[in-house]
Amino acid sequence: MANRLKGKVAIVTGAGSGIGRAAAILFAKEGAKVVVADYDEKGGRETAAMISRAKGKAIFVKADVSSSSDAKKLVAAAVKNFGKLNILYNNAGIVRWGNAVECTEEDWNRVIDINMKGAWLCSKYAIPEMTKAGGGSIINTASIAGCVAFAKIAAYCASKGGLIELTKSMALDFAQNKIRVNAICPGVIKTGMTKGILNDKKTLQGMLKATVIGRLGEPEDIAYAALYLASDESSFVTGTTIVADGGWTVQ
Ligand code: NAP
Repeated sequence: MANRLKGKVAIVTGAGSGIGRAAAILFAKEGAKVVVADYDEKGGRETAAMISRAKGKAIFVKADVSSSSDAKKLVAAAVKNFGKLNILYNNAGIVRWGNAVECTEEDWNRVIDINMKGAWLCSKYAIPEMTKAGGGSIINTASIAGCVAFAKIAAYCASKGGLIELTKSMALDFAQNKIRVNAICPGVIKTGMTKGILNDKKTLQGMLKATVIGRLGEPEDIAYAALYLASDESSFVTGTTIVADGGWTVQ
């Protein structure tokens, strides 16, 4: 067990798979007590069990981040079980396909509710607890789709662009509480979210070509960026985004 997060209590949302799972496992390995949050009960319980098997500390809390009562319950569970809250990693997210004309109102609302409102709700309830704990770190998984446009995912681009601006707004408002707020913008990462599109050979080739580093990302590539932002190593860093995209947006 290493100790970059020794003594810290962290919530990771969307930790039942992909980037969230990798981050929850890494945070626990670095000494944090982790609240694994997801609305996928099976995946979430699996992540918590993986951490326990590796002798880390974790509990699973089933929560839909777009629900105010679930977000409140999630923060309360962290404090009840581990005594305080230092780190919130808002990572849960979904994508729905379609340009602005094709996108249904139902899909638009769901994407905005989870990707943007969910991060706000969890932060809303976490910030008072972090303040009591003497400060903390909030990390939001945005996307390069929040920096540059991608075709046919209008709601997703809007939600991630909004999340980047929310990151800056919260960084400004809560610096005085010693709470830092930063975002990570991943490029294409091999997770459940991208599995379908990466099965298509032509799409895969196109994505590899656009990722100048020559490979697609692994969940751990993002988890390490989150670890840096969660730890005191980044104590002078707030209101910014780390772009971890293998060079996709460099050209
Ligand atoms: P993933 O493997 O699908 O993981 C997302 C997790 O969040 C899933 O377990 C999902 O559960 C859960 N989730 C979805 N809605 C939720 C809600 N309302 N409440 C709680 N949990 C919820 O995908 P991922 O790639 O790791 O995605 C993690 C984050 O990275 C997302 O915010 C995504 O937008 C962002 N991102 C991903 C990529 C990429 O290329 N993969 C690139 C840029 C940004 P279900 O599986 O049951 O839906």
